Order: sequence, then structure tokens, then C-alpha cells
Amino acid sequence: MSNLDLQQLVEKISLKYFQKPFKHRAYFNYRLKTTGGRYHLNDHNIDINPKMLNDFGYHILIGVIKHELCHYHLHLSGFNAKHSSPDFIHLLSVVGGSRYAPQPKINRRNLRYVCINCGQIYIRKRRINVRRYVCSRCHGHLKLINN
Ligand SMILES: [Zn+2]
Ligand SMILES: [Zn+2]
Repeated sequence: MSNLDLQQLVEKISLKYFQKPFKHRAYFNYRLKTTGGRYHLNDHNIDINPKMLNDFGYHILIGVIKHELCHYHLHLSGFNAKHSSPDFIHLLSVVGGSRYAPQPKINRRNLRYVCINCGQIYIRKRRINVRRYVCSRCHGHLKLINN
């Protein structure tokens, strides 16, 4: 799914469930780790963690979009858009948004190295040559602790 597809999906959900247009930008943010999505108070844009779709599927993605749209519409209408506010909890239940985003799966292919001198952990996507690469903190040797 592209950013354009996401944009159109958010606009569609906004009209269908909130009866109000979404007039800002929605895009995937590949740097989000455990957050499902975010509504930005300053520019009113929404970013969505692509793992919601890739790890959990369309249904979960929709729930996260509805959640962010609750923040969006409440905030722009001058209501309390915080998670704990009765307005937020009510609107979320009316549109069927998700309360919490599921936790993305940990990438099992990541490799963990530990510095045998200072204990610093390094997580790498690829295998590194431990004879050549040393700890950037103390120059100690690294050891692979899982695979
Ligand atoms: Zn939220
Ligand atoms: Zn070290």
C-alpha cells in the first residue's frame, strides 16, 4: 500500500465514520517502532506505522486509522483529544477504533552483539566481522549472543 492509497483510505474512513473530511496528510512512517500511529498537534498530519498493515493486516490498520482520526477531529473541533478524555473514549467506541495498537513483532533476524568489555549491546541486521569491528564506546571485542 502506497502513501497515496493510505491518504485515500484515511479520507474515505473520515467521511464514512466521522461524516467530516480529512483535509491534511496521512503517510506511512517507517521509523515508528511500537506506536501504531500518531496525530501531530502542530501540523494536523497523521503518520501510521506500516507494521500495523504488514504484521497484523487490514482490519488492524483500519482500527488504528480510526483512533488517529478521533484525535484529529476532536482536536480540530476544540474538544479534549487526550486518550483519557470522555470525549475521546466515547467517539472511539462509536466509530469502532482500537484503544491500543498491537505490539509489532520483533524482527527475529536481527542479530545481537555484546561488548565483552563494557556490556554495550549492538543490534545489527547483518552479521559483522567481530575481528574487525570493535565496540565504539570502549574498543572492546564484540560477541554474538543470539542468531
Ligand atoms: Zn492515540
Ligand atoms: Zn565496550
